[in-house]
Amino acid sequence: MTSGRRVALSRRRFLGCGPAAALAAAIPFRASAAAPPTGEDYYAKLGVQPIINAAGTYTYLTAAVMPPSVRRAVERAAYHPVRLKDLQKASGEYLARKLRCEAALVSCGASAALTLATAACIAKANGLRPEEIPGGVAGRKNEVVVQKAHRYEYDHAMQLCNVAIKEVVTVDDYRAALSERTVMTNFFNAAEGGEICQEQWLAVAHEHGVPCHLDAAADMPPIENLWKYTGMGFDLVCFSGGKGIRGPQNAGLLLGRKDLIELAAQNDNPNSDAVGRGMKVAKEQIVGMVAAVDWLLEQSNEGMEAEFLRSTAVIQRAVEKIPSVKTRVITPPIANHVPHLIIDIDPKQLGITPLEVAEKLRNGTPSIELNPATGTDGRGLMGTPNSIILSTWMLGDGEERIVASRLRSVLSRARG
Ligand SMILES: *Cc1c(COP(=O)(O)O)cnc(C)c1O
Repeated sequence: MTSGRRVALSRRRFLGCGPAAALAAAIPFRASAAAPPTGEDYYAKLGVQPIINAAGTYTYLTAAVMPPSVRRAVERAAYHPVRLKDLQKASGEYLARKLRCEAALVSCGASAALTLATAACIAKANGLRPEEIPGGVAGRKNEVVVQKAHRYEYDHAMQLCNVAIKEVVTVDDYRAALSERTVMTNFFNAAEGGEICQEQWLAVAHEHGVPCHLDAAADMPPIENLWKYTGMGFDLVCFSGGKGIRGPQNAGLLLGRKDLIELAAQNDNPNSDAVGRGMKVAKEQIVGMVAAVDWLLEQSNEGMEAEFLRSTAVIQRAVEKIPSVKTRVITPPIANHVPHLIIDIDPKQLGITPLEVAEKLRNGTPSIELNPATGTDGRGLMGTPNSIILSTWMLGDGEERIVASRLRSVLSRARG
């Protein structure tokens, strides 16, 4: 099937005509939109409360729920053992074809992909074997160059390989920082600052023969980002598998140059004497990652956005008549590039603050999680301390109606 036909099919499925078609459109990525689950309910058995996720693809909320086709693929993979290397190799080749890059590796998340990318670049620069990383890295080529504004918590994933991070601000700094000790650069795609753009970042590094990794973990949608950055010339790019791609939460993608992906795979399990040994992806999750990419490539950006906006509007309509309430819809430019609903309230008039609203929804039944930027300065979502913030993309079928009615009752009943 050509990708053109795929797009046409999915557009028809999503856009159709009229409300019935819009309802059907919800089906492909909603949790409950298939046969009801079978088997023992271990959340109930363990006394762990399921939540309604109006927050987003947060790791602490277990990020996305897998679409039905992915869940079925995961279950089916569980029936038989295979040779792990065979599965790693075949899944990588399949994904590279689908995602238009030279090579691919399923990692156990974007963070692990960054560690494996670092190990691969160290191996490339020094000829070190997996058993020599991180122990043999000190005193060898071991520097990673990043923009100061791109320093983030995932630097830890690189530091696992015993690299030293060199910060730069200007292009002149950057040229000066690249040396025979440099093994790679890292570009944090969703960073809010940094004066060196992607094209210049790549051009200067490549003049020096240094490979560039791009962290695009949370940067799908749009779907085409899965091949945009490797297409621009980034040598390695990572994505989280369990965020917008809706694969297993402990899966991710490392995409890019064949020689580097091969080195990443050597530093990965099942090799026990390797930095990636603890980053195992089980056969079920490798298959789930591939199935999630297959599922995603059947979707369209327009179809997904239409569904997120439809469910956002349900919540918006439920609260907009409440005194002092004003609503707006914001789509962040890069990471989590989906509509977010910002509900601005006057806490004095309503007798409740956004943080108290979040607490009430969390403590209710079913328990609802709002975006953690609620009641803060907005954390890049353009909210204020008086904003309630949520997004609908991680909601299950019909859950927007539950969120809408709970929010309405909490906001309207606070006084009195
Ligand atoms: C979520 C995230 C990661 C980690 O992704 P995992 O798949 O959970 O390992 C890394 N980098 C950025 C920028 C992220 O947003």
